Amino acid sequence: MSEIAHGRYVGRFAPSPTGPLHFGSLLAACASYLQARQAGGRWLLRIEDIDPPREQPGAARLIIDTLATFGFEWDGPVHYQSARLTRHRELIDQLVQDGYAYQCSCSRSDLARTRRGPLGAIYPGTCRKGSKGHRVAIRALTDRQPITFQDGLQGQQSQCLEVETGDFVIRRRDGLIAYHLAVVADDHDHGVTEVVRGIDLMDSTPRQILLQRRLGFATPRYLHIPVIVDEAGQKLSKQTGAPALRCERCGPTLVAALEALGQSPPDELAEADLADIWAWALRRWNASLLAGKTSIAGNDYPLAATRNGLS
Ligand SMILES: [Zn+2]
Repeated sequence: MSEIAHGRYVGRFAPSPTGPLHFGSLLAACASYLQARQAGGRWLLRIEDIDPPREQPGAARLIIDTLATFGFEWDGPVHYQSARLTRHRELIDQLVQDGYAYQCSCSRSDLARTRRGPLGAIYPGTCRKGSKGHRVAIRALTDRQPITFQDGLQGQQSQCLEVETGDFVIRRRDGLIAYHLAVVADDHDHGVTEVVRGIDLMDSTPRQILLQRRLGFATPRYLHIPVIVDEAGQKLSKQTGAPALRCERCGPTLVAALEALGQSPPDELAEADLADIWAWALRRWNASLLAGKTSIAGNDYPLAATRNGLS
């Protein structure tokens, strides 16, 4: 069944099951949900479970249950990226056949010597002219044409991929599908028209736009929201030990999320029913209140932080 609704808004929330939801992931869920619902559109839930070594058993179920407890209502079934590996592999084959991707047999020690830039290692294109070996990665071919897009909150963004990242991996040596390829394939096949997610993923957007162009897919709109950071400016995440969301007091937590998203909810809203909080949020949601904002101080939101002992 195709989910592509022409001219209609389709948004999504796409967590990785690497651990339970935390306050930062609640912000991305809220922003994408409110943006979709206010537009009268659909909101999809997709579990990005294509990297088993990083995943935590039971996390997908926990994420789904937590979202339901907070009152999120997604359209259609929960999508699992792991169920789409055949489609991902077909697209990789297509890119290789069209000359937009190639095999890379560089070893870990070869890659350890490559130059690094702000976006990580910059692959110098060693295997562009052919490589041999049977345990190979597949890289997407980049070029010097700048990729520019207008972010809905952060303004114009531009990268020259050949200079800033070099040809990037779309299938790893161990056979796992890389994030960029899977996200592009799934957003396209689900008809997603706007991607609302944390600003920590903004740097990866030009690589995804390149893949969309190579595959003949439309580019959705992008809206990158600020992320919660600690005093050192580091993103608070599952990896840095942000605490799991607790469901006993969903209302105040949801109101704190709306506050962090710049929506200025009244204090008394924290005591309201979840349904009333959502009704208020839908009426008042205005993403542009976050325009240009890249970070939110975790210290202001005790639910977000662990390091200062407030949680
Ligand atoms: Zn190589």
